[in-house]
Amino acid sequence: MSATTIPYGRQSIDESDLAAVARVLASDWLTQGPAIPAFEAVLAQRAQAKHAVAVSNATAALHIACLAAGLGPGDRLWTTPNTFVASANCARYCGADVDFVDIDPHTWCLDAMALERKLAHAERAGALPKVVVPVAFAGRSADMRAIKRLAERYGFIVIEDASHAVGATYEGRPVGCGDFADMTVFSFHPVKIVTTGEGGAVLTNDDALHARLSSLRSHGITRDPGKMEGESDGPWYYEMLELGFNYRMTDMQAALGVSQLARLDAFLARRRALVRRYATLLDGLPLVLPQSDALDDSAWHLYVVRLRLDAMAVTHRQVFERLRQAGIGVNLHYIPVHLHPYYRRLGFTPGQFPEAEQYYREAISLPMYAGLTDEAQSVVADELRKAIR
Ligand SMILES: *Cc1c(COP(=O)(O)O)cnc(C)c1O
Repeated sequence: MSATTIPYGRQSIDESDLAAVARVLASDWLTQGPAIPAFEAVLAQRAQAKHAVAVSNATAALHIACLAAGLGPGDRLWTTPNTFVASANCARYCGADVDFVDIDPHTWCLDAMALERKLAHAERAGALPKVVVPVAFAGRSADMRAIKRLAERYGFIVIEDASHAVGATYEGRPVGCGDFADMTVFSFHPVKIVTTGEGGAVLTNDDALHARLSSLRSHGITRDPGKMEGESDGPWYYEMLELGFNYRMTDMQAALGVSQLARLDAFLARRRALVRRYATLLDGLPLVLPQSDALDDSAWHLYVVRLRLDAMAVTHRQVFERLRQAGIGVNLHYIPVHLHPYYRRLGFTPGQFPEAEQYYREAISLPMYAGLTDEAQSVVADELRKAIR
């Protein structure tokens, strides 16, 4: 087996990024300095949101978003099984129960019609969710308009997990703007659209949610006399008002984030060009390509194809192994969350979410990142053609 030469995703770091981080390292502040509010301002402006709260990673962002939503023991959070485990785990951190809504067979996002049916049942059973977490899978939002309409009817809070979708749009407006979600979560992990090494953020237009998120990020501590319960003992004084966490981002990370956001449009343009090119390169192969209707809306974190196994003599696993052997770092997004041992122990079983399970038997994530060259992409297409023969 040869070494992987073309990964499925990777960061793009240039001289401007290096310089931005170096400037912070030479400054007075490595954490809790001016780079954090600067990053938050750029992020909020880009997404047309009122507030952005930068945190240590998107998993932490999901956790404090759930707490800010009031999620706790006895409550329910629903999400899609076709996601990274963090979209569901955030409920468990709060002591709440998780359930899933199957995916739309075309967009591979949480199916708003399945959600509607499940809500009707849950209402009769007195078991409605407090929070629903739609995931902008591969960089395209779910049917957020329909989900928002259901949120108004059934009274749940919408936290969009847009970890894949920094820079994406939905109905002509930036993901994160809050038109269809109470809070939006971004990830800045190196394989995502822009990176801060590790990093995440919660965006919201709600002042009360913003205050709560800011508090939970930093131990539940305040230095604002207006928020204190007692009188100040002196200039050193602060109060811890609730049980928060240290979920802060460093200033080096935030400076990298500002620098990366300045390159976001170039990243998106390159990803979209690669999508168009894949459509040509893979034309005629027995594959289901990603839906093209959202081509210029999606941020294209992932480029997933589904094998039409009935039209080939090889198995999904064989195609995967052949590509890995050829040095193509293909991956699979995602193992349905309910099939992980932890969730099976909570009572989930195979067969419960058939669309997500069928998808899992056919999906392959091909390399997709801003630094992927045309030549390397052509190698991917050639190797895939050989692998499914
Ligand atoms: C990457 C990812 C996360 C977690 O992001 P981290 O920043 O690594 O914590 C959460 N949800 C989805 C859908 C992701 O892809």
